Amino acid sequence: MIRKNYYSLQRVMAMLAVFAIFAMPVSVFTQTKISYHSNKYKPADDVRAGRQAAAEAEQQFPLLNDAQTNNYVSRVGMRLVSAIPPEFQHPEFQYYFKVINASDINAFALPGGPMYVNRGMIEAARNEGEMAGVMAHELSHVALRHGTAQASKAQKYGLLAGILGIGGQILGGPAGAAAQVAGQGVGVYFLKFSREYETEADILGAQIMARAGYDPRDLANMFQTIERQSGGGGGGFMSSHPSPANRYARINQEAQYLRIVNPVRDSREFAQVQSRLRGMGRAPSMQEIARSGQRYPNGENTGNTGNYPNNPPGGRVGYPSTQYQNYSEFGGALRVSVPSNWRELGGNNSVWFAPEGAYGQSQNQVVFTHGVNFGVFQAQSTNLQQGTNEFLNSLGGNLRQQSGYQRTTISGRTGLSMTLNNVNEATGRAEIITVVTTQLRNGQLFYMIAVAPSNEFNSYQSAFRNILRSVQLND
Ligand SMILES: [Zn+2]
Repeated sequence: MIRKNYYSLQRVMAMLAVFAIFAMPVSVFTQTKISYHSNKYKPADDVRAGRQAAAEAEQQFPLLNDAQTNNYVSRVGMRLVSAIPPEFQHPEFQYYFKVINASDINAFALPGGPMYVNRGMIEAARNEGEMAGVMAHELSHVALRHGTAQASKAQKYGLLAGILGIGGQILGGPAGAAAQVAGQGVGVYFLKFSREYETEADILGAQIMARAGYDPRDLANMFQTIERQSGGGGGGFMSSHPSPANRYARINQEAQYLRIVNPVRDSREFAQVQSRLRGMGRAPSMQEIARSGQRYPNGENTGNTGNYPNNPPGGRVGYPSTQYQNYSEFGGALRVSVPSNWRELGGNNSVWFAPEGAYGQSQNQVVFTHGVNFGVFQAQSTNLQQGTNEFLNSLGGNLRQQSGYQRTTISGRTGLSMTLNNVNEATGRAEIITVVTTQLRNGQLFYMIAVAPSNEFNSYQSAFRNILRSVQLND
C-alpha cells in the first residue's frame, strides 16, 4: 500500500533536523515564571468542552479547502506544541490546527487543543514568526487551561451550571454563535480573557516562540501589524484579546531573557503560502459568513481535501476524533464506524479511511501514512492462516513481522491478527502495520490493515481497536 519515493533524502534529513530541534535543551536566565490558576476541572474536561465547541465551530465557519496551506499551518503549530514547557504539557490534549476561510485578522483556540487560524491572519502577517506569534499566544491560553480556570471562577458566582455549560456558553445562545461572532470577533464569544490572562499568554507565548526557534519579538510585532491593518480600531483579534498595558514593551522585555533555540531561518514556505492565499480571491468576512446563515453539517466541511489526491503525505496529522461515523461498504456487506475526522477513500474492493494529511498521490499510487484499509483477497488456500500468509506475501514492500499470529474475533468470527514493521517509502519513517483477517462465507479472505508511524502508533491504538470492534460483516 505504500510504494514510491516521494521525498528526496535532503527533505527527509531536513525533517529529521526539525525533530532534533524539539529535543534541544533551552537555557534561560531570568525568564518570568508563569503558573496555573486554580481550576476545579480535570484536563479531560478541557478536552471534552473544546471538542464540543470545535464541532459546533466547524458547522458555522467555512474551513479553507487547501492542503498546502493546512499542512503548512499544522506543521508550524506542531513545532510550537513541541516547544511548550514540560510543566504545561498535558498528555490528554489533542492539538490540531485548521484554517478558516475568513478575511478578518483573527485566530482562536479551544480548551484541550483545537485551534482555528483565519486566512486573513496568515495574509496579514509579515513573516512566519508573526503568524507563529499569534499561534503561540493562543496555544498558551490552552496550555495554561485558561478556559476552564475562568469557568471555575465564574462558577463560584453561580454563573455556569457545569462543565457541559461551557460548550453552551461558548457556542450556544439564542442568536447562534455566528451572529454573535459577527460583530465582535470570534474570541469574544468563545473565550474572552482578562488582561491578566492575556499577559500570561503573551509571556508564555514568547517563551514557546524562543524554544521553537522563533524570535519572540515577532509576537510583539504581530500585535502592531494587527493594529495597523485593522485601522487603529483593533477589531477582530484585539476585541477578543484585550490589550494589557505596555503589551509590546512587556513582550520585548521578556524576549531579552530568552535564547532562541536553533532559529528558523527559512521563510520560503511562508512566502509561498501567502502568495497562494492572495491569489485565491477575496475571502468572506466573519460578518458575511454570519449573514449568509450557511451551515456546514458534519462531513461537508472537509477542510483540505480539495487538492486530493495531489497532496503528498508527511504533514502533521490530527489525532483521531473520539466521535465516530458509520459507513456501509461493499454493497452493505461491511458496516464499520471510523473517527469522524477521517475520510473515506474508496475503490471497488478496497476502501481506506484516513485523516487529512495522511494520504497523497505518488505516481499512480495513493500512499497512506495513517489510517485503516478494508478489502477482500482471493487466496488459494481455504485455511485462514495459509490464506493470510498468501495475502501478506502479496503486499510486498519491506514488511517485517513483529509478532506471531494471534487469535482474535472480528464480527463474531474467528480471526487472525499480526503486527508488522515497515518503512514508509513516501516519508522514510518507520511505521507499524497491524493486519487482521477472517474468512467470508464464500471462502475469500476479508482483511483490515491499520497503519501509523511507529512513534505515533500508541495514539492510534484505541481508535484501531474501536474500528475493529465495530466491524459487522453481512455476507
Ligand atoms: Zn489572548
